[in-house]
Amino acid sequence: MRQGSGESEEPEGDAEGLFSMGDLAAAASTEGADGRRFHDGPQARRLLGVKEIHAEPAAADSLRGRQIIARFPEARLIETDSHWGIPHLHGNEGNVERWVRVKRETLVLGERKSFGVRPNGRSADWIAPGLSNGCAMACAYCCVPRRKGFANPITVFTDVERVLSSLGRHIAGLGRKEEPNQCDEQAWVYDIGENGDCSVDDLISDNTADLIRAFRRRPTAKASFATKFVNPDLLRLDPQGRTRIRFSVMPPDDSRLLDIRTSPVPDRIAAAADFLDAGYEVHFNLSPVVIRPGWEQAWGDLLRAMDDVLPQRVKGQAAAEIILLTHNQDLHQVNLGWHPRAESALWRPEIQQSKRSENGSWNVRYRNATKAQAVDALSHLIEERAPWMRVRYAF
Ligand code: SF4
Repeated sequence: MRQGSGESEEPEGDAEGLFSMGDLAAAASTEGADGRRFHDGPQARRLLGVKEIHAEPAAADSLRGRQIIARFPEARLIETDSHWGIPHLHGNEGNVERWVRVKRETLVLGERKSFGVRPNGRSADWIAPGLSNGCAMACAYCCVPRRKGFANPITVFTDVERVLSSLGRHIAGLGRKEEPNQCDEQAWVYDIGENGDCSVDDLISDNTADLIRAFRRRPTAKASFATKFVNPDLLRLDPQGRTRIRFSVMPPDDSRLLDIRTSPVPDRIAAAADFLDAGYEVHFNLSPVVIRPGWEQAWGDLLRAMDDVLPQRVKGQAAAEIILLTHNQDLHQVNLGWHPRAESALWRPEIQQSKRSENGSWNVRYRNATKAQAVDALSHLIEERAPWMRVRYAF
């Protein structure tokens, strides 16, 4: 979980008037040529078969809320006072057993109360106020449940135009980027998916589409999000180079153990060229790097496979982030309840150290020397097997 200033402000309007409800209406009418989208198909429904929607009244009444409720007509609608305070969804250990079912069957609709843009400086220059939090996938190391409690379904924010407005004002206020940095040579980069996966969010609503469309008219800025899900519907959005999609990859054996419900790693790599051709910038997150017996061999094989499979046009523009595993003591306990095998790879106290986080829980990272050695080893592997892959940063 990236930490920021927690700044909060109420948007007053988009300085240039470029983000508006017109974008929402355009987004709502988009369909493929045959009138069907991936989100109508069986694969999408396996990931997300919504049976109940908990909604704040204002969120349910909003344009976006009504669109979402109409999209899942069989789901039971349950009114809630606050998207954060749903007793049987948040902070209830009993839900460990229902961990994955809750992700598949439950949605929450709410309104954002804060719209601040936070500085980052690693993955992106800025963290945008997101249009969702939570995820239908279930990676065993995911940092999002640390905030949301044990069960972690997707919460969709419906006050889209306020978020777009806040972003528009921030971008307009910054002007041009004068100094290139590792985030981007020219554009201010905004992470739009800090607390979820924008590719999966697009199965639910046009929130991701609205964000991508908004950025294509911003020559000084770029949206960016990491994903572990290949959603072909995103190919329709014509981002015009103003959105960077970062496919997260790890050795397939690790992924099968840890990346529950995600697209297989070979599918993510195979999708890169399609996304580039559709107008995205395509980067990779080597993430998370999990140190376990044989990890270097496995990452070397992955990098060689990427070198074999990816076309030159993808390699020519690709960059990568290296992110070593961060785990968490509370999440470790949760995982022991539903996926203990994952913990044999994630929980390695003999090479890890703990640090208390801002919210009082204990985060666990590899010890400094172990981490430095691992970054070194992986950097050498990249030089040897995938020299075209520029490493933007290692963390
Ligand atoms: S895809 Fe990302 S947000 Fe979703 S469970 Fe995995 S790590 Fe968490």
